Amino acid sequence: MQTTFTAKQLKNPRIAEVDKILRRCVHCGFCTATCPTYVLLGDERDSPRGRIYLMKEMFEHDRPASPEVQRHVDRCLSCLSCMTTCPSGVDYMHLVDYTRAHIEETGRRGFRERLARSLLAAILPYPDRFRFALRAARLVQPFTGILRRLGFKELVAMLELAPAGLLRGADFTGPGTAATRAERRRRVILLAGCAQQVLRPEINDATIRLLARRGVDVEVAPGAGCCGALVHHMGREAEAIAFAKRNIDAWTRLMDKGDRIDAVIVNASGCGTTVKDYAHMLAREPAYAERAAKLSAMTRDVTEFLASYDMGPPMRWSSLRVAYHSACSMQHGQRITEEPRKLLRNAGFTVLEVPEGHLCCGSAGTYNILQPTIAADLRDRKVANIRSMRPDLVATGNIGCITQLASGMDIPVAHTVELLDWAYGGPMPRGLEALAKHVQDVPEAKPLFAVT
Ligand code: SF4
Ligand code: SF4
Repeated sequence: MQTTFTAKQLKNPRIAEVDKILRRCVHCGFCTATCPTYVLLGDERDSPRGRIYLMKEMFEHDRPASPEVQRHVDRCLSCLSCMTTCPSGVDYMHLVDYTRAHIEETGRRGFRERLARSLLAAILPYPDRFRFALRAARLVQPFTGILRRLGFKELVAMLELAPAGLLRGADFTGPGTAATRAERRRRVILLAGCAQQVLRPEINDATIRLLARRGVDVEVAPGAGCCGALVHHMGREAEAIAFAKRNIDAWTRLMDKGDRIDAVIVNASGCGTTVKDYAHMLAREPAYAERAAKLSAMTRDVTEFLASYDMGPPMRWSSLRVAYHSACSMQHGQRITEEPRKLLRNAGFTVLEVPEGHLCCGSAGTYNILQPTIAADLRDRKVANIRSMRPDLVATGNIGCITQLASGMDIPVAHTVELLDWAYGGPMPRGLEALAKHVQDVPEAKPLFAVT
C-alpha cells in the first residue's frame, strides 16, 4: 500500500512504525473472509482491510479520531484472525493498538460509555475490587431492567455476565512459593492474573498441581498483578505500560534471588499474548527494554510448557467428548494450536474440532461488555457450532472464553488445565458433576505442594 507520510511525520517513531505496517498491505482482501465482524456485518469498514484504510487516512492527515474511525475500530475484536490469514504479514495487532491509543487521546465518547470504560479499568485488573464488585452486582441485578431502559447497555452487560453462586477461594493465591513435594527439577514464575483468580481460582490451583507433579516449583512474585491486557485493549496505553513495568520489576526481583527461573507461565491466553508483547511495548524504554525482551522470550502458555513433558498415562480414563475451543489469543495471538489438543488426547479425552474454529466467541477482553450485541451474536454462532458436535463438555485456555460461552449454553465449560489435572488425579472441575459417571474414579491425591 502506498503511503504519503511526510519526512517530518516519519521522525515520530510511532508513525514510522505505522508506515512500515501499512506498506505491507497489498489490498488483497484475503483477511476479510476470516474477520468475524465482516462475516457478521458485511460492511467493508468492519473488515481488516477497511479498518486499515480508515487508520491510514487518520494517521496520514494527523487527524483526531472521527466518529466513523472510532465506531469501526471499537467493533474490532483484536482477535487477530486477520493476521493468521494475511499472506503479506501485516502487523495488524500493533496498528490497531496504536489506533486505540489515538482514539483514547483524541476521540469523543458519551457519558455512559466513558463511565463504563472507567469502571472496567478501575475494577477488573484488581482482584479485591473485582470480588467486591461481583458481590455488589448481586444487589444491583434486580434493577437491570431500569438500567436497560436508561440506555446503560454496558452496565447491563456487566451485570448479566456476573456469575451466579458463591465466589470460591484458592489453595494458593500467592505471593510466595508452591514448592513441589516431588524431586525438584525446574522453577517457574506464574502470572497469577486478576479477573481469572476471582472468577475461577481453581485454574491456578490445577496449574500448580500439574506442575508440582512434574517436579516444578511455582513462584508468584510479590508485587506482580494484572498483565495490562484489559486496559491495553481499551487504548489506555499508559496504564497498560505501568502494569507491564510493575510485573517486570516484580519478576526481576524474584529472578535475582534464589535459583534459576526456567519460564514465566501464563494460563490465560489473552494475558499470554500481552506478556509476550512486553518486548514490543517497552522497546523504546531503555530502563526496561532488555528485561522486557528477556521476560517475553521466557513466557510460555501453560500448555506450551507442559507439552515439553512426557505426561505419562492418565490416572483417570474417561470416554468424554471434549469440544476444544481455541481462544483467538491462543491460535492467532500466540499461534499455539496443537499442544492443548495433544495434551487432552494423551490424557484420554476424545477431542472434537469445532466448525468455524477460527472465529471469535465474542469475549475478547472487555468486548462482550462494550459491544454486547455483536458479542452475543458471535457467542450464539459459536454455541451453535459447538452443539453441532454433540460434545459432553468444552475445553478452552482463556477465562474470558469460559465466561462468554457459559453465559450462552448449558454444556459445561472448563479450562484445559482443569481437565488435565482431573485426568492426572486432581479434583473434578466445577460444573462437571453430572459427567462423573463417565470417569473412572481414583483415590484422593496426597498433597502435591507445600506453600511457603
Ligand atoms: S482483529 Fe479480528 S475483528 Fe479485528 S479486523 Fe482482524 S479479524 Fe477483524
Ligand atoms: S490479507 Fe493482509 S495484505 Fe491482504 S488486505 Fe488483508 S491485511 Fe492487507
